[in-house]
Amino acid sequence: MFASLPSEFSSGLGAAAGLGLAAGVCAYAALWPGSRIFGSALVAPEQPGELALTFDDGPNPVWTPRLLEILARHDVRATFFLLGSRAQAEPEMVRSIAAAGHLIGNHSWSHPNLALRGRKRIQEELAWTCDRLEQITGAPAKFFRPPFGARRPAVLRLAREMGMVPVLWNTMTSDWSEPAAERIAQRLTRKIDRLTRQGRAANIVLHDGGHLDSGAYREPSIAAAALLIARYKPTHRFVTVDAWE
Ligand SMILES: [Zn+2]
Repeated sequence: MFASLPSEFSSGLGAAAGLGLAAGVCAYAALWPGSRIFGSALVAPEQPGELALTFDDGPNPVWTPRLLEILARHDVRATFFLLGSRAQAEPEMVRSIAAAGHLIGNHSWSHPNLALRGRKRIQEELAWTCDRLEQITGAPAKFFRPPFGARRPAVLRLAREMGMVPVLWNTMTSDWSEPAAERIAQRLTRKIDRLTRQGRAANIVLHDGGHLDSGAYREPSIAAAALLIARYKPTHRFVTVDAWE
């Protein structure tokens, strides 16, 4: 099996070992050469009718619990891309997210623009978060969403070398700066409906946290999620991004 590993996975093992992670979470998926998204990032497949609600920048001590209530009430699972620094401050909330059956992903430690950082800093941001999330939940976080969507190929490649699956999105609006939940939901609905017509699933970004403010006000984003669930539950299937790997 090792003989068939692409060279970047092999060097990724070396890089992970250099960080002292050879036996840790960040190295494990380097042993999965079968990933269908090798060479790119996961966005959304041609599965019209499937929606992934993803929430970035948490956990947020005020708004994440409200969001978890809404998701539980509607029996919907979502994907949470957490900041390692926030997870460290709110370990109980991270455990609550995992215990409710949601998928937890890595959104870096401190939300820098990784496209502007060197390899060592990127590795640290990802590895620290990986380690902390695994310490808290007992399970590896396999999926990584770059802060600010820094899609420089080197960032995505390094994440893959460290055993993670980079995840982007195809449905977003500036929910963090829009006070009206209805407007957030309306804009996302237009995009979701267009994707459905095009025969594609929707990978939807909302924010339950804020990278500049640990308790950022996120009621509109969370209310927008509730509106989307109410609208699409009868006709669409809500999935976590691991369903698309
Ligand atoms: Zn973010």
